[in-house]
Amino acid sequence: MKRLLFAAIAAIAAPLALADYPDKPVTIVVPFAAGGPTDKVARDLAEALRKPLGGTVIVENVGGAGGTLGAAKVAKATPDGYTLLLYHIGMSTSPALYRKLPYNTLEDFEYLGMINEVPMTLIGKPTLPASNWAELHKWLEANKGKINLANAGLGAASHLCGLLFQNSLKIDMQTVPYKGTAPAMNDLLGGQVDLMCDQTTNTSGQIEAGKVKAFAVTTTKRLTTPALKHLPTLDESGLKGFNVSIWHGLYAPKGTPKAVTDKINTALRAALKDPEFIKREEALGAVVVTDARLSGAEHKKFVEAEINKWGPVIKAAGQYAD
Ligand code: ASP
Repeated sequence: MKRLLFAAIAAIAAPLALADYPDKPVTIVVPFAAGGPTDKVARDLAEALRKPLGGTVIVENVGGAGGTLGAAKVAKATPDGYTLLLYHIGMSTSPALYRKLPYNTLEDFEYLGMINEVPMTLIGKPTLPASNWAELHKWLEANKGKINLANAGLGAASHLCGLLFQNSLKIDMQTVPYKGTAPAMNDLLGGQVDLMCDQTTNTSGQIEAGKVKAFAVTTTKRLTTPALKHLPTLDESGLKGFNVSIWHGLYAPKGTPKAVTDKINTALRAALKDPEFIKREEALGAVVVTDARLSGAEHKKFVEAEINKWGPVIKAAGQYAD
């Protein structure tokens, strides 16, 4: 009897609680360090979400293990809509990279919609004795065994790009993992590491300011962004078929009520139409998603396709971690 009474009260209270959502700040977990490209997207999105969601959105950085630590934290969080995850292509590469991933990518999350697509660039420390792809290629051949490459850990976009780069060139490099490419960029600027492959959202400013050496873009087409349009593609530079472009999506823990995920999805769609948000993304070389992947179902389908696309590539490269 008592149980029935509690159930009846809960049934009445639940819609009221949903109507009030959000009545406290919503946290977006970024699984990388502050100041990096994923963090930048999240902070811009948090700002754009504030009005349509009707509440404050804050960002929490939980970096480490290529983004899988932050993703694990959200997978285990209370499914009430107050803890969300913003993760990139690592969502789909980690299942192949980790033998024991602490969550199930397709089962442990509610898919809330995609955000943007971002190309990557190959950059080098300012003192690197090469200023274009031909010079870099020569330098790489002459320095085999001594080159190091920064990344944000196994599962990071920088890791995937660096892995494919080494495989295409058939030159092994020493990889140096960081909690995100913001701290990696600091070391690159300081000359402690030689090379990095990172999103244009992190590199375009440094390239434009001439603070790093820029060698190529990772897409098969050259970019139109003013700061980056002079860069050749790796494909045209001799690494035939090289093509990496990453994407970001938003997730909630599995079991988050549908009324809440619907509300977040509606707010996300509105945020992605915010002219300020679009302007900031475009200036950094990113493209805001406007297609069917704005729905949770299509977002999930896309991630599943990406898992199937990258899994065999990663396995062929022989990379994994326990
Ligand atoms: N750009 C990083 C990566 O390699 C992540 C980050 O620091 O945002 O995935």
